[in-house]
Amino acid sequence: MSRIYLSAPHMGQFEEGFVAEAFRTNWLSSVGPNLDAFEADIKALSGAHAVALSSGTAAIHLALRLLGVGAGDEVLCPSLTFAASANPIVYQGASPVFLDSDASYNIDPNVLETALTKKAAQGKRPKAIMVVHLFGQSADLDPIFELGARFDVPVIEDAAEALGTLYKGKQVGALGGPTALGVYSFNGNKIITTSGGGALISRNQAWVDKARFWSTQSRDPGLSYEHSELGYNYRMSNVLAGIGRGQLAVLEDRVQARRAIAFRYRDAFADLEGMQLMPEMPWGRHTYWLSVIELDETKLGIARDELVRALAKLDIEARPVWKPMHLQKFFSSAECYGGDVAERLYSRGICLPSSSSLSESDQGRVIEALRAAVRN
Ligand SMILES: *Cc1c(COP(=O)(O)O)cnc(C)c1O
Repeated sequence: MSRIYLSAPHMGQFEEGFVAEAFRTNWLSSVGPNLDAFEADIKALSGAHAVALSSGTAAIHLALRLLGVGAGDEVLCPSLTFAASANPIVYQGASPVFLDSDASYNIDPNVLETALTKKAAQGKRPKAIMVVHLFGQSADLDPIFELGARFDVPVIEDAAEALGTLYKGKQVGALGGPTALGVYSFNGNKIITTSGGGALISRNQAWVDKARFWSTQSRDPGLSYEHSELGYNYRMSNVLAGIGRGQLAVLEDRVQARRAIAFRYRDAFADLEGMQLMPEMPWGRHTYWLSVIELDETKLGIARDELVRALAKLDIEARPVWKPMHLQKFFSSAECYGGDVAERLYSRGICLPSSSSLSESDQGRVIEALRAAVRN
């Protein structure tokens, strides 16, 4: 029996052709037709201008710099997220201020309002609000954008886990209007992948152009190597953009496959007390990039980590939900508003194998293994 992964890459039928074309035409660096076409495809999906980058983390970093985040600044960020949301805040010399989640797993707008109100009373204005759409589910964006506008704080959507995710019928990432920025990731474990990569999107074309300039070491136009600004080596290559073109073409299929897997888990565990699929909030479409199951350890009689280990013994990869940032050693001195909800979701949540390529029989293996672990 082969190993079952949490979230494996799943290629379609066009990726190799685009990559082969890059080889045939020798467009093997960080310029070329695949890059232009991939950025146009991202624009068609999101409605915003796009620059393709080496990672989602790089995109978050450039978004923060575009907003002028620097030393001494504060950025509001959910505690329940992957570290890549928060690390670039520190790259810029700023401090993250962590916020608790609501039932969607994402920023609780009430906690955001409390934080912004308190900061305003202290005469402080955070430089940005980072909203994350976790596991494929949208945060409740309308009240978040409304608060951003009321307190005059721009919003960055970290949609790294949210390609295909809808909020009120629209793809998330660029829903915040002309002053907002969004980020996608094409890392190997995401719903679609370029093996590694990301994109920064915005309705503000000048911002996207600036980010593209910074991403290639900020080389000024002209003959010799002139640099009047700090730059990075953050551009995606034309080869990987070819993979991305093929992957974007099958995004909707991948969403449907992942949702079907999540609902099969939900149905398979319906008779077990203490196992519940992460809810899909009424405001959007959850892609179930990862199938998260909320466990009640007392009802089940087995601890979450024991379950993860029992599955690992059978060569099935499962993981706990992201460990909140305010519990991380590196961020232990960061300020945090609330945190109980994030801690509870973390202590109860298990991510089950969710690859869109997961066969029905392999999903059956996961279900059987889990049921057996709970029985024993
Ligand atoms: C994956 C991820 C990122 C970073 O994307 P990379 O492409 O891996 O750098 C950022 N935020 C969240 C929430 C992620 O899951």
